[in-house]
Amino acid sequence: MTQSLSQLPQSAAVDPRDRPLRVGVLGFGGLGQAAARVLAPKREMRLVVAADHLGFAYDGAGLDPDRCIEVYGAAGTLGALPEIGERCDRSIEAAIAAAQDVDGYFLALPNLPNTFMASVVDQFIASGWRGVLVDALKRTSAMEQIIERRDRLAAAGITYLTGCGATPGLLTAAAAIAAQSYAEIHQVKITFGVGIANWEAYRATIREDIAHMPGHSVESARAMTDEEVAALLDRTNGILALENMEHADDLMLELAGICDRDRVTVGGVVDTRNAKKPLSTNVQVTGRTFEGKISTHTFTLGDETSMAANVCGPAFGYLKAGTALHRRGIYGLFTAAEVMPQFVR
Ligand code: NAD
Repeated sequence: MTQSLSQLPQSAAVDPRDRPLRVGVLGFGGLGQAAARVLAPKREMRLVVAADHLGFAYDGAGLDPDRCIEVYGAAGTLGALPEIGERCDRSIEAAIAAAQDVDGYFLALPNLPNTFMASVVDQFIASGWRGVLVDALKRTSAMEQIIERRDRLAAAGITYLTGCGATPGLLTAAAAIAAQSYAEIHQVKITFGVGIANWEAYRATIREDIAHMPGHSVESARAMTDEEVAALLDRTNGILALENMEHADDLMLELAGICDRDRVTVGGVVDTRNAKKPLSTNVQVTGRTFEGKISTHTFTLGDETSMAANVCGPAFGYLKAGTALHRRGIYGLFTAAEVMPQFVR
């Protein structure tokens, strides 16, 4: 059954007296590992399953993030964890089958090729599992593929929230809120600064960013060896400067009825050799008020907050919000610009 959000009862909060939500994380690279650490102190969510491309680990009592990160670092897969790990080729399918009691997953997977996340969604639909999925997808064309699956997700009893990272995600949602002051939105300008000490901690993120550079594509970036990525970063002194990126913030704000997608721009600077941000991440929303004044709201993230904090926090906030929808029988697809995330305690 699908319902519109307006049919929701006033409070859609997940009841905190309930048992912790059983959560899975697919992809155990930079974001997946950060996600495990973010969840560790939470009472309302418990990480029970995590998968990488060579295997997965499942423990209904909860996975120990330090142990998982240690074994993944040493063996290259969670499948090497004694007793709870399993090495396998089709690790996502195997993890879904082994962990039927999971309430929701954060898909911290690379979207390489650009159709990969949509293929994972198809696996969930085919598996018969019902629950909540959140992604931190970036490209507009990738999100369009997820949106095409809206009816199939609804029929499968899955509540899917897309674009729930930082950008798209936190900044897109902030833009949706900032837009409320205006009668007409002229421009939404997202500028991000990312500082990471070592590109290898976030290989997919960096490859996907390279894919936005002139002369590159998703396919060419995917085909680059690690040595080729390192050589490119040597030539740029570790800096990736990106502008007019194909980012789904545009589609999400258009779907939310805020402005046409051509009024949304996304760009930024990634420093792959310095954990300090090269610039402050911000979103500027310019519009005209009902009195005819033109103004700009700016929402700036604290420089001390990492990319991982600004992606994983919102992802789980949306997972909690998605659970509230799912429990009310509201399935299908939503974007981070149309649902308010809920704070996970
Ligand atoms: P990563 O390269 O560090 O890790 C990827 C993980 O996925 C690895 O554990 C790998 O083993 C696993 N994996 C790869 N193929 C798999 C498969 N077929 N089955 C199971 N596991 C598989 O990636 P990352 O840098 O953490 O980035 C993850 C995603 O998050 C990227 O798509 C990136 O674009 C996105 N991201 C989004 C935002 C945002 O704000 N929206 C910000 C940063 C990153």
